[in-house]
Amino acid sequence: MVMNVVEVESLRVMCDGGSSTLGHPRVFLTIKQEIREVVCPYCSLRYVLQGFEKPSTRQN
Ligand SMILES: [Zn+2]
Repeated sequence: MVMNVVEVESLRVMCDGGSSTLGHPRVFLTIKQEIREVVCPYCSLRYVLQGFEKPSTRQN
């Protein structure tokens, strides 16, 4: 299973399957501020809010 993650700067995102092979009708998703991410129910694409501190450590 491929985990696709898209970093966004807005709480509202639009998803239509993007560049994946799993295209679907356009839907609007709202990122939950508590977890700072939302998963598209159609294509399982994961939208992560950036511009805020992230719980994960930064790799360099
Ligand atoms: Zn989607």
